[in-house]
Amino acid sequence: MTTVFLGGALVAAAVTLFILQPILSGLHASLVRAEDELTDTEARKRVTLLALRDVEYDFLAGKLDEEDYLSLKADFTAEALAALEADAAGSKPHVLDDDVEAEITKIRAALRSGLMCRSCGFGNDNGSHFCSECGQELKIGAVG
Ligand SMILES: [Zn+2]
Repeated sequence: MTTVFLGGALVAAAVTLFILQPILSGLHASLVRAEDELTDTEARKRVTLLALRDVEYDFLAGKLDEEDYLSLKADFTAEALAALEADAAGSKPHVLDDDVEAEITKIRAALRSGLMCRSCGFGNDNGSHFCSECGQELKIGAVG
C-alpha cells in the first residue's frame, strides 16, 4: 500500500520534472546564457581594446620604449583576438584579426591626429573639434 503510493508519487514527480525540464532550461538559456555570454565577450573585447589604446598612447607619449610597446601590443592583440574568436564562436562567423587591425589602425590614426578624446578616449571623426562623446575640446595635431 505505502510502496504503491510512494511509487505513484515518484512517477508523478518524475513526469512533472520531465515536462518542466525543457521549459526551465529553455528559460535559462534565453534569459541567462545569451546575455551573459555576449556581455562577457563584449566586455573582454572592450577592455582589451582600451588596453591596446593605452599602450599606443603611452608609446606615443614616450612612456614606453619600443620593446615594451611591441611586447605589450602583441599580448593585447592576442587577447583581443581570443575575445573576437569567442565572439565568432557565437553568432558572427567572420570576425577575424582584420577587425583588430582595423581597430588598432583607427586608434593609432585618432591618436596621431589628435582626434582621440583625451578625456574619454572616444575616437572622433575627421574634422571634429569637440568630442562627440563627452564634448571635450580636441587638441588637433597635439601628438606626433
Ligand atoms: Zn570625450
